[in-house]
Amino acid sequence: MARRQTIGVRSENCTGCQLCKLACSFIKTSSFSLSHSYIQITRLGTAEQYEVSFTPECDRCGFCVNYCGFDAIARSGPSPAPAGRLQSATGGLDLGD
Ligand code: SF4
Ligand code: SF4
Repeated sequence: MARRQTIGVRSENCTGCQLCKLACSFIKTSSFSLSHSYIQITRLGTAEQYEVSFTPECDRCGFCVNYCGFDAIARSGPSPAPAGRLQSATGGLDLGD
């Protein structure tokens, strides 16, 4: 079973590239599908601003974090969260091992 951890989110860094969604769908369904992902990237209005969120099916495996090159999502499990506006995507849900 994958180790679950807290995933920190900085939505203001998100570019909407969707790589995290493809990574999630691949690791969870063995296919690349934007519609079969447990991370959601929502464009806010017409601006290039996005909100990052997770569906209830997300098990906090952290795989998607490896594919975000913009620090919009990050592991914040045992390590201290980076300073700034890092928000917990889990509402404090850190299930450890
Ligand atoms: S942490 Fe959640 S969204 Fe990311 S790859 Fe794992 S299940 Fe998917
Ligand atoms: S969270 Fe990262 S990988 Fe996902 S769409 Fe935003 S910038 Fe791209």
